[in-house]
Amino acid sequence: MRIAKRKALVTQLSASVAVVGKIIWVLGVVAWYVIRYPHARRAKRVRVVSDRRSLPEAIGLGAALLGMSVIPAIYVATGIPESADYPARAWAVAIGAILYIAAMWVFRRTHKELGKNWSITLEIRDNHKLICNGPYAHVRHPMYTSFMLMALGQAFLLSNWVVGLAGLIGFAVLFFLRVDKEERMMLDVFGQEYRAYMDRTKRIIPYIY
Ligand code: SAH
Repeated sequence: MRIAKRKALVTQLSASVAVVGKIIWVLGVVAWYVIRYPHARRAKRVRVVSDRRSLPEAIGLGAALLGMSVIPAIYVATGIPESADYPARAWAVAIGAILYIAAMWVFRRTHKELGKNWSITLEIRDNHKLICNGPYAHVRHPMYTSFMLMALGQAFLLSNWVVGLAGLIGFAVLFFLRVDKEERMMLDVFGQEYRAYMDRTKRIIPYIY
């Protein structure tokens, strides 16, 4: 009888922890939009002089949207796919929350630093300047660093194998379909200046990659 009671308590606790993870994930999405919205609005007013949008680019954006918002949103709202659930752990949710806070902090700093050069996709705008300050002094793609932290955060916050993997795969597809093209575009536009910048920085993880 005692053991059964204990088991029920553990299950109940794990369910509450899972709910906390979901709430933090939703708060993260809200913060993401609040940070991004004014920049997306302002970016519309700056003329685009070179646009490198392509099919792989659209596939990458689609994969990231699916893995990092559609699939987790369906999960948070309906619990589907329930069969891939595993018991939520408080330590995992705590790690997820820390990763999410770090992601939002980096995300906000990249938007502040990119200013008018911001874009959701690959394009060069009027008077485009190469930014090498703030987070851009440490890595060439800090916004993608923040996406990586978010995808990892999602895997820790939502205790479901499918949802956790979906975020990581979505991020990887976007990143690897885009990063070479983005760097080629930046090299075309900024030449030697970008080459020197590449020589002194890593892509998304300082000193490592
Ligand atoms: N890869 C960057 C930026 C992503 S937003 C990051 O992860 O932080 C994509 C747009 O940012 C591209 O259209 C490109 O024109 C612009 N961009 C990328 N790196 C830049 C830099 N160092 N300075 C200015 N603009 C940059």
